[in-house]
Amino acid sequence: MNANADYSLFDDVNKVVDHAASHMDIHPGLLEQIKLCNSIYKFNFPLRNGDGTYQVIEGYRVQHSHHKLPVKGGIRYSSFVNEEEVKGLAALMTYKCALVNIPYGGAKGGVRIDHKKYTRDQLEKITRRYTSELIKKKFIGPAIDVPAPDYGTSSQEMAWIVDTFEAFNPEVINAKGCVTGKPLSQHGIEGRTEATGMGVYIGIREAVSVKEDMIQLGLKVGLKGKTVVLQGLGNVGYYSAKYLAEAGAKIIGIAEYNGGLWDENGIDIEAIKAYQLENKSFKGYEKGEFIENANSLLTRPCDILIPAALENQITSENASDIQAKLIAEAANGPVTQEANTILLEKGIMIIPDMYLNAGGVTVSYFEWLKNLSRVSFGKLEKRYDMKKYDELLEGIEKATGDSFSDEQRKIIIKGASERDLVNSGLEETMVTAYHHMNSVRKEKGIKDLRTAGFIVALERIAISYTDLGIFP
Ligand code: GLU
Repeated sequence: MNANADYSLFDDVNKVVDHAASHMDIHPGLLEQIKLCNSIYKFNFPLRNGDGTYQVIEGYRVQHSHHKLPVKGGIRYSSFVNEEEVKGLAALMTYKCALVNIPYGGAKGGVRIDHKKYTRDQLEKITRRYTSELIKKKFIGPAIDVPAPDYGTSSQEMAWIVDTFEAFNPEVINAKGCVTGKPLSQHGIEGRTEATGMGVYIGIREAVSVKEDMIQLGLKVGLKGKTVVLQGLGNVGYYSAKYLAEAGAKIIGIAEYNGGLWDENGIDIEAIKAYQLENKSFKGYEKGEFIENANSLLTRPCDILIPAALENQITSENASDIQAKLIAEAANGPVTQEANTILLEKGIMIIPDMYLNAGGVTVSYFEWLKNLSRVSFGKLEKRYDMKKYDELLEGIEKATGDSFSDEQRKIIIKGASERDLVNSGLEETMVTAYHHMNSVRKEKGIKDLRTAGFIVALERIAISYTDLGIFP
């Protein structure tokens, strides 16, 4: 997983925007306004190490679009963080939120560190100092800019962020809504940790359910028996693979930054994750074959390839060797624009990042709403006599000839728990957005889902800007 210093994710995103705009009637001035970043904040701060030495840490927060407020997007800790990357990721957030109809502008933050090389104590210091820099410049707040986890960060960093924000802003009501992806004990929401992976699973499931699209790819409808190669077994990769495997797909390869695993009999996701957590690598795992050059797995034969790590992974160097029929972009920006052209020419279908990984921000939205309204959705759960309701439902089934699924029975009988609400909201969002994007693709006679997705997003953002007018 190497980042190329000359590569600009922001430029790549804007190339797709221009291409999508060429299918639309949009004023060039408005397009320019949409494409550029509203505010870019770059800063440096010192970290004092235990031995008396110092390090200077580079931090960023980019707000791409203020057409809706607050702006929203994760904070990433990685040694590849740079201004072009954060700008590109912030822009993707704008288009992602618009596509799935979540009312936020886009933003992104980054700290240029290899999080694996820092102690918990150091990470806490870095996170709190980074947050205080955002507070100083008003780049964070429940109505302004709401960060979340991303590559290299988790609910732990979000807990430190909310604690720091509250310490400096005692007068801000609903301060818990200044960040999402918090632990449950800090007013997080059930299902946020799994949300991006769950959304990836739903998106792929929807894509492989469309018969005419599958016929074009020479694939059978449905997930059962589909072979999957995954890059990255972090939060997004792990949950995507878990849900796909539960639905009958077979994970045959996993590429990580320090080696890969290949097993055509199917990899047990729980077992390999547990092994990786303990051994920090797949080396020595009893089943399958350890592959030193992990990225060589990306070009092996499979039905679905899921890059779930970083951007710039499928490039003009390896695109023509890809053998997968379907690429599912769980990461942000894993396929460069040059590679995208090569893949489309080869007839490979790509489910674009701006749609596929939108589950995270969707559930972040539910968490933020929960924080603003100060309710705990879990309290809706009723505790009734289950047997009585079971009998009643059986009566309804007999009388109407309808039948309820286990999930529906549970919700009708017990009332919706917080997790039920989150899962059904996520399901609804991902299913609706997929079929809308795919129908726009077909209506406009466009080859790829990415262009269609950007058209849907651009239309919504353009309407929002036009209705807002220009100040002053
Ligand atoms: N970092 C995630 C993303 O790239 C989630 C952002 C959020 O929840 O605000 O979409």
